[in-house]
Amino acid sequence: MSSVSLQKITILGSTGSIGVSTLDVIARHPDRYSVFALTGASQLEKLAQQCVQFRPRFAVVLDGVSAQKLAVLLKEQGSNTEVLWGAAALSDVSTATEVDAVMAAIVGAAGMRPTLDAARAGKRVLLANKETLVLAGALFMDAVRESGAELLPIDSEHNAIFQALPPLYRENPYAGNLQGAGIKRILLTASGGPFRLMPHEELQFVSPEQACKHPNWSMGRKISVDSASLMNKGLEVIEARWLFNAPKKEDISVIVHPQSVVHSMVEYMDGSVLAQLGNPDMRTPIAYGMAYPERVDAGVKSLDFFSVGRLDFEAPDLKRFPCLQLAFDALAAGSAAPAILNAANEVAVEGFLNKALRFTDIPVLIESVLNQCAHRATAESLSALLDADQSARIAARAWLQSHPAC
Ligand code: NAD
Ligand code: MG
Repeated sequence: MSSVSLQKITILGSTGSIGVSTLDVIARHPDRYSVFALTGASQLEKLAQQCVQFRPRFAVVLDGVSAQKLAVLLKEQGSNTEVLWGAAALSDVSTATEVDAVMAAIVGAAGMRPTLDAARAGKRVLLANKETLVLAGALFMDAVRESGAELLPIDSEHNAIFQALPPLYRENPYAGNLQGAGIKRILLTASGGPFRLMPHEELQFVSPEQACKHPNWSMGRKISVDSASLMNKGLEVIEARWLFNAPKKEDISVIVHPQSVVHSMVEYMDGSVLAQLGNPDMRTPIAYGMAYPERVDAGVKSLDFFSVGRLDFEAPDLKRFPCLQLAFDALAAGSAAPAILNAANEVAVEGFLNKALRFTDIPVLIESVLNQCAHRATAESLSALLDADQSARIAARAWLQSHPAC
């Protein structure tokens, strides 16, 4: 056994899909990892159970009422975990001196603040929350560089790309550029989601339950809908742009690969293409990020090549899935356009999940909000970006109210 010191980890969003997978990896390696803090917005009983099992010093919830409820649950179960609440507490448990690594697994722009604070505090940031980079990519990467934080991508595609990049480049992409490292382009794979083969006319009738039934991955509801609309891939293109210093349109291509076995690839100038393969199980990228540069058991089954049988690749259909094109356009427009795209998408997805919006109206709403808000927003500071986010949410809610779902 290697002699490693115990890493203390804060998990932002421990009750969610990524949070639970992270705790599963931690439970396999009690000699390597201990939990400093767990956080959750709802599911207090689940959070209490996690506290009993992993004995964190702190648990953080959103408000005082939830904090009281959680404290009662913990007391009943004899737990010593201290309960905190509110945005400042999320940042406190992400920046505390005792903390080595922060798993950023809150969903949506709500996760940006504590993730940015963890980066500013120079932590190892295990980044699942892609919305942080969509909302404030330049600012976040600046914070990482200035503090010397270690940034490990957890999104499976970005983790795959990270693994396939030259070590010097992946650890310091802003010291040079892709071309200087001999790289032609990044190939981001997409499963195509549950509606990959559905005719255009039928897409307007799909339900939230159908959208959340991903063919290969089990995930939270928001990212599941994003995967179905291909907005997830659009957000990931923006995420890759910042993570890997890939500013040019030709730097990143999207390839639909329905089996989700090739998690992404890097094409080099000499014609080589390096890919990372594996079963679609988030414990692989999570364990990779936690143990980097070592490797540990993640509880993931060996890839059975004979049952996979074949690997297919196709071009994305931007006509049936306009969200991907909207994301390309927002990235090209720059400034606060990606922040507006992200905020409008969050409201649209929530509307769709609540049956207040048809699936096919998600891109219609987002485009309308972009047209309305993008020209007056700027990205010059964090507060300007947060203003853009707020204005986009207001415009998106107004759109929803004036377009009742048929
Ligand atoms: P999820 O919905 O399952 O979990 C979200 C977590 O965030 C929960 O613990 C929830 O309580 C917490 N949360 C929600 N709203 C909050 C708020 N306003 N303030 C504080 N906490 C809040 O989501 P997930 O699928 O685990 O995804 C989490 C993040 O990871 C997302 O950004 C997603 O895009 C990214 N991601 C997820 C997967 C996956 O397989 N699930 C893969 C790649 C990336
Ligand atoms: Mg992904």
